Amino acid sequence: MAQLHNLGFPRIGANRELKLALESYWSGQIDAQSLTAQAIELRQKHWQQQSNLDWVPVGDFSLYDQVLDMSFTLGNIPARVTQLEGSELDSYFRAARGRSPADQKDHVVPAAEMTKWFDTNYHYIVPEFDNETEFKLNPTRLIAQCREAQQLGLKTKPVIIGPLTYLWLGKLKQNQSINDQEKLNLLHNLLPVYQQLLTEFAELGIDWVQIDEPILVTELNKAWQEAFKTAYQHLSNSSRLPNLLITTYFGRLKENIELVKQLPVQGIHLDASNFKCETTRHEVSELINDFPKNKVISLGIINGRNIWKSDLNQLLDWLEPIHSQLSDRLWLAPSCSLLHVPVDLNNEQNIDSEISSWLAFAKQKLLELETLGSALNNGRDSVAEILANNKEAIDSRNLSQRVHNEAVKKAVAAINSDMGQRDSHYQERAQNQRKKLNLPKFPTTTIGSFPQTQEIRRTRRQFKIGELSQDDYQLAMKQEIKRCVQEQELLELDVLVHGEAERNDMVEYFGEQLNGYAFTQFGWVQSYGSRCVKPPIIFGDISRPKPITVDWTSYAKSLTDKPMKGMLTGPVTMLNWSFVRDDQPRSETCLQLALAIRQEVLDLESAGINIVQIDEPALREGLPLRKNEWQTYLDWAVNAFRLSANGVQDETQIHTHMCYSEFNDIIQSIADLDADVITIETSRSDMELLTAFENFNYPNEIGPGVYDIHSPNIPFVSDITSLLEKASERISADRLWVNPDCGLKTRNWQEVTSSLKNMVSAAKVLRENI
Ligand code: GLN
Ligand code: ZN
Repeated sequence: MAQLHNLGFPRIGANRELKLALESYWSGQIDAQSLTAQAIELRQKHWQQQSNLDWVPVGDFSLYDQVLDMSFTLGNIPARVTQLEGSELDSYFRAARGRSPADQKDHVVPAAEMTKWFDTNYHYIVPEFDNETEFKLNPTRLIAQCREAQQLGLKTKPVIIGPLTYLWLGKLKQNQSINDQEKLNLLHNLLPVYQQLLTEFAELGIDWVQIDEPILVTELNKAWQEAFKTAYQHLSNSSRLPNLLITTYFGRLKENIELVKQLPVQGIHLDASNFKCETTRHEVSELINDFPKNKVISLGIINGRNIWKSDLNQLLDWLEPIHSQLSDRLWLAPSCSLLHVPVDLNNEQNIDSEISSWLAFAKQKLLELETLGSALNNGRDSVAEILANNKEAIDSRNLSQRVHNEAVKKAVAAINSDMGQRDSHYQERAQNQRKKLNLPKFPTTTIGSFPQTQEIRRTRRQFKIGELSQDDYQLAMKQEIKRCVQEQELLELDVLVHGEAERNDMVEYFGEQLNGYAFTQFGWVQSYGSRCVKPPIIFGDISRPKPITVDWTSYAKSLTDKPMKGMLTGPVTMLNWSFVRDDQPRSETCLQLALAIRQEVLDLESAGINIVQIDEPALREGLPLRKNEWQTYLDWAVNAFRLSANGVQDETQIHTHMCYSEFNDIIQSIADLDADVITIETSRSDMELLTAFENFNYPNEIGPGVYDIHSPNIPFVSDITSLLEKASERISADRLWVNPDCGLKTRNWQEVTSSLKNMVSAAKVLRENI
């Protein structure tokens, strides 16, 4: 009998119950007891929804983040957090957010750093280490949750982050550069704590523990490979030990497969969501053939990161022979925790029924798993009807006119390299652009958005639900644009923008006006803490039925004699912040997006807009986990951007914007974009991050952000001039622009005008002096 399990369930709740509870707690509306009670209720509800599985994950639920939970379990909590008075819950939120609701206003501590969880859009709290770090077991949370699940009669499988992945995720505070090796020195302190924890589980009567070691799908050097062997050898020496299932996900094991085969554990889970691919199948067979005959192999066959229905019949064709070979030793699960998908498709009312018949969210994915289990264990006949329906849905998606648009496929096939190539070299274009735009030295501009006031949000909402007519909405938005342009003129900025008042979100706004995109009402996915995102769904070939931004931008342009910059979201960001179709390579979908945006760029140009900015804040996010796969991604991503941008005349100036500051390892690709101007985030790094551009001799223009828009503080003129002076030591002054780090939509008008006023003054000072 194949066994079914799950690696983790979305904890935020189908209606974002956890978000609500957390935010009420933080704002003092409910107390700790009530927060805890709501958490228990939600946890139990989620377990009930998984109760048809053979094993239910426990410990995957978290009030903020599973890595932070693990730090508490291991007693690795920054001293600045525990020095203050209060309960463990106070320390927990202090570590996560810099303060607990119990703290006095002036008792804030620096929150721990947050960073991306592998290549997902989830962000975890980075464990902090120093050479003195000691670990001390605090099993309370896990034991309590195991007991809760056991009392409900569920077969409980605790989930923990494995020791190697835990170290890999953390940072050494004093010396971050020698990071890797030094972190491994902490292992001998860490292992006894893991051992104690496993013993605690054994005492609770736990049979299996899930140990997440996703770093096994990344490139590991010799030291880390050896550390894996030592660590698991050590753990397996414990006297009372539950069975250990090592879980790997987010990709293939590749060269690490040899290592995995040797680990003294009772089972291994691998990501087989890409089962249609020969190489994945090969990896699975290799493991089956070489793995000792008493060990469990868990196949993650349902994609835990997308929202598509699985092809159950095709899966069964592949799984049936594997099942006859492995029998009880075969476990089945989603590829990774379902944290990365929305909870329940049944809540959606607005998705077209044809499209929704192709989708599966967390609950539906577990039903797919159950169907596979029944088909393997009791024969396909036991679920004949479900399988027939599944086939119908898969066929419908394969053949649907909604998905396939011949004109788009033709346009993609007709792409040639000239299309991504500007007529002249940057140096030459720059001269034409200077003549045309007639800008001063150190030209000032912004990244696009201006404050999204309550009123703007209300107007958009009223229009969406039909309370406001199209005409009234247009009028209201035009008023906002007018105000925004007037403010910028008063501030004497050089290149103006329309302010983006009409945009709820930089991806959703464009997606809503392209064919091939669908939107959910409740498709929330946790991004960090209580924050969620609602990625749109790319289900079909992308096309642009009509211009999107031309009217707004032209209107803004009509209000001023200064150059008006058109604002667009780039193809790579559109792709990386959406759920993407899985029936063609991502690169292909990206080309389709690029063609749609290219049309918009060209229409803006025809409407007399001489500067177009194409934002790509998510370019870096798409980098694969393995470095040796980076180049392939960068090549197609850069190509897509060039296709969207480079159809314009020489005199038209292309800007791009990226709101991060690590460029060292991708600088060649950044240069290959060949944008005339790139604006980046740099203010907090004291312009140090321009080094990447300096060392590379980056040829085009750069706008290093001169103040941090995340903070309400108003920058002083002198701060900005000194940053700009530093910048001009690295980049020649005639290629420098002056702008904030990012868009201004989260700030209020008061902050924005004061800050920009100082920014413009600083640019004027510089013009005199440099
Ligand atoms: N143009 C967008 C804005 O100003 C860019 C946002 C971003 O970089 N994330 O809001
Ligand atoms: Zn930005």
